Order: sequence, then C-alpha cells, then structure tokens
Amino acid sequence: MVGAGVVNLVSAYFLAKANHRLTIVDKGPNPLYPAFWKKLGCTFGGENVRMFTYTEADNYNEKGSQLYSRMDEAFERVIGDSGWLVRPKETLNAQEQAWIQDFHAVSPADAIQFGEEIYRVNISSGKIWQQWMEEAPELFDDVDLVQDILRIYSDPADFHAAQKLHGRLGSLTEVLSTESALEKYPLFKSARSADMLGGCMMVKGFTLKVQDFCKKIIRHLMDAGVEFRWNANFSGIQKNWDGAVTGVIIDDKMEQYDHYVLSLGAYAGATLENTRTGNQLHGVLGVWLSLPNIYPELKHSMKIHKTGRVGEDTNVTLIEQHGEPVLVLGSGYGYTGNATKNNISNSELQGIFDSVKHTAQTYFPEAYAMVKDRIDGTGKYCVRSWTPTGLGVFETIPTVRGGHLIVTGGNNTGGFTQAPYIADAVLSTLRNKIHPLQSLFAPQRMRRSIESSIS
Ligand SMILES: Cc1cc2nc3c(=O)[nH]c(=O)nc-3n(C[C@H](O)[C@H](O)[C@H](O)COP(=O)(O)OP(=O)(O)OC[C@H]3O[C@@H](n4cnc5c(N)ncnc54)[C@H](O)[C@@H]3O)c2cc1C
Repeated sequence: MVGAGVVNLVSAYFLAKANHRLTIVDKGPNPLYPAFWKKLGCTFGGENVRMFTYTEADNYNEKGSQLYSRMDEAFERVIGDSGWLVRPKETLNAQEQAWIQDFHAVSPADAIQFGEEIYRVNISSGKIWQQWMEEAPELFDDVDLVQDILRIYSDPADFHAAQKLHGRLGSLTEVLSTESALEKYPLFKSARSADMLGGCMMVKGFTLKVQDFCKKIIRHLMDAGVEFRWNANFSGIQKNWDGAVTGVIIDDKMEQYDHYVLSLGAYAGATLENTRTGNQLHGVLGVWLSLPNIYPELKHSMKIHKTGRVGEDTNVTLIEQHGEPVLVLGSGYGYTGNATKNNISNSELQGIFDSVKHTAQTYFPEAYAMVKDRIDGTGKYCVRSWTPTGLGVFETIPTVRGGHLIVTGGNNTGGFTQAPYIADAVLSTLRNKIHPLQSLFAPQRMRRSIESSIS
C-alpha cells in the first residue's frame, strides 16, 4: 500500500483483518513521532479532527445549486478576489489548465447525478462506520467521539434547500426554530443580531480526533505484523506491453507484490500518468483555527454554512486538547493544482483565514476575543485531493501476478467519511468481486462526461 493517510489506513485495517500480508510505504515521516506538519499528508498535516455527515463530500460542481452557486467563477479568481486560486490564473501550468477545463466540461445533468452518487457513497460508508463502532469499540475510545451534528445556516434560503436535502436523504433528525435555537444555544444571540442565523437543524453524523484514531490503527497494524516504511518515495508504476502492472518504483527501485493499493492524497503529481486517473487528482486546501470552548451549552459538533464563496462551509468540532475543551474550525478552499510539495505561504491564504476568523467572530464572539491577538501567523492548512467531476477515483488495473493495482483518492471534503466504503471496495476487488464503487468512481467517467457534453 502506498500512502498512510486515513483512506489507506482504514483499508489496511480491513485487509489485515481479512489476513492479507501488508507492507505500507509513505514518503512522509512516521506520524507516531512529532514532525513538521508541512511534511505530512492531509490526514496528519491538518488539525486532529474530522466529521462524518451524509453530505460531507458535497459535489461543488453542481451548476444551479442553491448551496454552491457561482462555482463557474471559482477557478477564474484568486482567493483575495473571492475565488479558489492560490496564485494568479496566468501562472497555472498545462495540467492545471486542463483540470480546470475538465471541471467546467461536466454537464449540469452529470453534475446532479454525480452529487446524488456521492450521497449514496457517504450513506453506504455510514453503515460501515456504525458497524465498525459496534465491532471494535476500543478503536473509538479516547478519540473524543461526539455524535450528531448541529447545522447552522446564515441564509434562510440556503437553510430551506438544505433542510429539503437532508430530509430526503434521511439525515435530518430535528429542525430548530430560531427561538428554540437561541433558547438552547444563547451563544448565537450575536449571530442572530448580525442577521447570520437563517436556520438550524440537527442531522446524523459524528466527529472524532482523526489523528489519534489513525495512530491507533497504525499501532494495531504494527502489532499484527504489518511492515511500515516511512520516508519511502513512490515514483511510478511499471507495466508490460499488455498494460498489466509488473511493479512499482519505490526509492528508485522496482518492487513486486501480488496487489497494490495507491492512495496518495493530493500529491500524486505525475506518478499516475500511465493510469486512467492520470491528471485527475489535484489539490484544494482548507485552513484551521482553534478557539477555547467556553460554552457549556454546546454538546454537539457543528457545521456552519455561511453564504459567500471563500469560507462557505465550516466544520466546528468539539474536542479536548491538553485537558481543555476546544472548538476546532476547519474551512475554505484554495486550489493548489498538481504541486507535489507543500509550500504555500500564509499571505496567499489571507482571504481564507479572514473568512474563518469572521465565522469565529460571528458565531463564537467571546471565545474569538480571547485569542484574536495570538492567532495571526500561526494558521495551519492541509490539502485534500479533488477531481474535476467531484466524484472520487477508484481505478483497478490487472497485475502480471493475477492481482490488482488499485488507485483511490479525490474524495474532496469527504475522505474520512468515505474511507470505510473505499476499504469495502478494495477488499471486494482483491477477492475478484464486483463492488459499486468500481463503476461509481471509475476515472473514465470524466471522459464520458466530457464526450456527452460535446455531443
Ligand atoms: C480543512 C479540511 C477539513 C476536512 N474535514 C473533513 C471532514 O470533516 N470530514 C471528511 O470526511 N473529510 C474532511 N476533509 C478531507 C479529508 O481530510 C481528506 O479527504 C483525507 O484526509 C484524505 O486522506 P488520504 O488518505 O486520501 O490522503 P492523505 O492524508 O494526504 O494521505 C496520503 C499519503 O500518501 C503519501 N504519499 C503521497 N505521495 C506519495 C508518494 N509519491 N510516495 C509515498 N507516499 C506518498 C503522503 O505522504 C500521505 O501521507 C478535510 C480536509 C481539509 C483540508
């Protein structure tokens, strides 16, 4: 397995359970020891929180969407001008221009269909998460697991659209009138005064400390005899004349196994150029901000949808850090393209940090006031992999030993959410069984979508 982020670690857990012998390589350092966050992938490089909801990996490509409107302009403008680009459009390389062209080429009908399929994948994954929590409760102990999500919308029209969606998906558990929301959560009084409380509802979902959870998986796998090789770089796939995989290149040497599972996150670069996935996995970063949780009335993690493009959705997760209750805000989008190194400067991200600070100030004004003089320049971000279709990638290629090479990724804002369903698909593939993800996330759907939009 190449890549030791949450996606491959969850797959590794289930593969080891099914008695597969595993070697896991990652170009980053061992996350069990302290490391500079920019050297780590999305899972370990960001903050120690992630959320599961039915709509976690929303399709931002939906044309005509009430919730994600104006996406046609996102890749035209830099963050400072309310776009998604971390650098000016003129500096994008040929692969980045092609990726953006592919993003725009997805037809409105396909975008709606892909959005529905993403929800289906999330819901299927939720069933596995549930079962996993029952079967292996020790993995979910001491990771600050918090059930149910309070969703807050600044704009009533967005709230009504989301209420309809969550009702249809079977995720909605309670709608709160503004009065009852304020009674339960007096902290939102100032948001209400600023006209930023358009609606609230409770939905199914949970949050946990993703890095603590993944470290538990790593230790569990090490105890089961899995070999981990850190600081080991994968640089490509070798194939024979027939297109079957003969091996992978790790630290400039070819290595051969029965099967391969590649989950490289946002930094695949050109390493997958001889696959159908090819140029589809690019990076979109998001930023983090932590506040003291001084609000005893908060019992659930939250998702705040603030109308406007830069920091549209913010996940707010309740955890303890060094014994103190903390609110961790994660939000924003910055297209980093096919860069293989993590070297964005915070000044380019100022627009996103400002938007998250605005969210903090609007909804948690007292907590924000306590830290506002200390947070500038400390901002962390991490980069998730993203595809032009909004769908993830699940590609399978036969190997000369009669096995499979699997490429996964591109799960945009929902890699954590979708990880168990991806693991299920990996396991089925290695057993030569059909799994829905093989066609739902087939990378060639991008080409089909473009061809149908041209014809
Ligand atoms: C701000 C923010 C908030 C988010 N919140 C949520 C959330 O609440 N819920 C949710 O479901 N998702 C969320 N996501 C998305 C989620 O974090 C990612 O989808 C997920 O962490 C991706 O995991 P991964 O295993 O695919 O990639 P990564 O964690 O990036 O792991 C990939 C690994 O591959 C290694 N690698 C890459 N290239 C090579 C190579 N050439 N050789 C060897 N190793 C290599 C990297 O070092 C890395 O360790 C969020 C993302 C961001 C940015």
